[in-house]
Amino acid sequence: MSDPYAARSDLDWELAVESIALRIRWFGLIVGYLLVNALDPVENRPYLNGILTLGAVYALFDLAWHWRGKAFLSRTPLFVSLMEALFIGLLSHFDRGLDSPFRYYYFLSLLVCAIRYSPAVTYSTYAMHSMSYSMLALSHGLIDRGDIVSLILMLVFMGWGTWAGTSLALLIRETGRKLTDLNHELEVRIERRTRELQQSQALLVQQEKQAAFGLLAAGIAHEVGNPLAAISSLVQLMNRKELEPEMHDRLALVDEQLIRIQKTLRELVEFSRPGNNEIRTTDLHEVIENALNIAKYYKRKKGKKIETHYSQEIPHLQIARDRVLQVFLNLVLNALDATEEGGTILISTELTDDKVRCTFKDDGHGISPERQIQLFEPYFTTKPTGTGLGLFVSKNIVEGMGGRIRLEHSHPGTTVFSVTLPT
Ligand code: ADP
Repeated sequence: MSDPYAARSDLDWELAVESIALRIRWFGLIVGYLLVNALDPVENRPYLNGILTLGAVYALFDLAWHWRGKAFLSRTPLFVSLMEALFIGLLSHFDRGLDSPFRYYYFLSLLVCAIRYSPAVTYSTYAMHSMSYSMLALSHGLIDRGDIVSLILMLVFMGWGTWAGTSLALLIRETGRKLTDLNHELEVRIERRTRELQQSQALLVQQEKQAAFGLLAAGIAHEVGNPLAAISSLVQLMNRKELEPEMHDRLALVDEQLIRIQKTLRELVEFSRPGNNEIRTTDLHEVIENALNIAKYYKRKKGKKIETHYSQEIPHLQIARDRVLQVFLNLVLNALDATEEGGTILISTELTDDKVRCTFKDDGHGISPERQIQLFEPYFTTKPTGTGLGLFVSKNIVEGMGGRIRLEHSHPGTTVFSVTLPT
């Protein structure tokens, strides 16, 4: 599979090089016009101006393409080299032949070619330019040894320039690529760190919330618990007295309700005390029952049925009980939130290989495929008063125990979450 990042950097490189090539080309043309028309008047001036103008037309196309963010004729580099060999050869021919200053254009052309294309293309261009210059020498008739020597020297220097230009360009290209890779790596690292930071911050927020809630619950339990205990003693005292039988019944009813309130308070305190990470032998079904016991106070529990289907093979597990309770409670509360009155939630357990699997199934509104991807991300919530931390924290807890929590499937009418724990 091609790396889009590399492809983008290739295009950036091509455009950057193209802009250098463009400037070199225009500068060459201006120098050419000056040479022909001002500095060094020659007899073939109209021809030379014509050839230079053809070059200028090509450079205009090149410029137009560049402005559109593209490289002109980038797929046919050898054709461009051929045109340049012809262009420089003709300019030199109509100028002063082998000694024409236009012969230096060969070097510029090779340099641009080296930074734009592969070494193979650059060496092929060198071959074309060598042929162009040799034909120029032939068309002007090599007369003495001096001409042959300058022809050979020119070919050697062009070859030399090609070699140097190609090596340098390769080095720059390689360095550029490495820098791009490093940059890419850095971006990935920063992204990972940011995510980690966000996650630990989310965990911290959750812990703080729980601590604050614990403090509040303990306060309420204390404030309400003491008067309740006093009322309860009074009721019992009164009950010992001689009263009408009907009165005894009523007092028994009051006492029953008081016991119920005390039990609720105990459960509230039990649930909100700081999470205990202690690993101990735990009966998973007892934890589920505990979670359901707390969930029954949830306002959205009304009119909904919770069924359990426990496997008798589940062994006791070595787990942090309170943490698992937090996970189960969160899954149950989410299921209650998702279902309408009359809805059903089914919790079942099973033993598979060396793992225990608990599934939480509800017949609620389901989760759309786009939301399923974000489900375990911190702060992802669709509820007006949600925190979006429940599933994220649950995932952390379960994975911290070597287990797995996942959404098995979800569509309107059925949502199934599963928690798998090692035995
Ligand atoms: P919160 O309950 O605060 O929104 P959670 O992390 O527990 O945070 O849940 C994130 C979101 O996942 C919920 O807002 C809800 O949109 C979706 N979700 C979780 N469980 C269920 C479920 N059983 N049915 C439908 N949606 C659910």
